[in-house]
Amino acid sequence: MGVPTIGCRCHVCVSPDPHDKRTRPSILLRYEDRAVVVDTTPDFRFQALRANLDRLDAVLYTHSHADHILGLDDIRPFSLPNGKIIPVYGNRPAIEGLRRVFKYVFDGNYPYGGVPLIQDHIINGPVELFGLNFLPVQVLHGRLEVLGFRFGRVAYLTDFNKIPEPSYPLLHGLDVLFLDALRHEAHPTHMTVAEALQEVEKIQPRQAFFTHIAHDLGHEVTNASLPEQVRLCYDVMRLEIETD
Ligand SMILES: [Zn+2]
Ligand SMILES: [Zn+2]
Ligand SMILES: [Zn+2]
Repeated sequence: MGVPTIGCRCHVCVSPDPHDKRTRPSILLRYEDRAVVVDTTPDFRFQALRANLDRLDAVLYTHSHADHILGLDDIRPFSLPNGKIIPVYGNRPAIEGLRRVFKYVFDGNYPYGGVPLIQDHIINGPVELFGLNFLPVQVLHGRLEVLGFRFGRVAYLTDFNKIPEPSYPLLHGLDVLFLDALRHEAHPTHMTVAEALQEVEKIQPRQAFFTHIAHDLGHEVTNASLPEQVRLCYDVMRLEIETD
C-alpha cells in the first residue's frame, strides 16, 4: 500500500525519517546506456521523474498484481514521441493479467489518443536483453506462480512466501539477494522478517536486502535488529553491481 499508508497515524507512517517513505516496489537497471525496469508500480511516474529516467528499453514483470503493474500506462512518454515499441516480459499468468487489466492497450483500436506501445512476451526461460542475461526464478505467492529474476550474481525476488526446491540451485553464489519481508506478523502470501532471515541463512548471499516492506517495520529500528549483511531496502537506494 506504500508508506505512509493512507489514513494511518502509526509511528512508521508519521516518522520523519525519509527511509520510512516507501513507494511501491520496483527496480531500475541501467547498463550499456540502456534502462530496464522490473514492474511498473502505481508510483511509476513519480519514480521515473525522481530517477531522471530519460529512456526505457524493456519491462520485466514479476506478476500482475495491481501494485506491480498499474503504472504501465505511464510508460507512454518513452514510446509515443518516437513510435518506439517497448518489449514487456512475464510468465503466462502475468501477461494474461496485463492483457485483462490493460485491455485498451492491447486491443489496437483505442480511439481516445495515445496508448503505450508495447510488445508482450511470455517467458519460460532465460531472456537476454541488451547483452545481459535474465534468468527467471519461480517462486510461490500463495498459489500464484511469480517470477523472480537473476542477473549476474544478483537476484530480485519480491512477492512470495515459498521458494520451490528446484529454484534454489538458481540462487547459488549470489553477491546480492533482494527478497520479500513484509512485516513480523504472519501473512498467507508474503514472507515475515523471520522467514526471510531463514531463507538468507539457507541461500547464503553475501548481502541481502528486504523489500515489499509494510508500515509495520520502521527502517532504523528494524535494521538495528538484523545481521550486518542484511538490510532493509529504501527508496532511491542505489547499488553498483558486477554482472559477469
Ligand atoms: Zn501506518
Ligand atoms: Zn503480489
Ligand atoms: Zn506486491
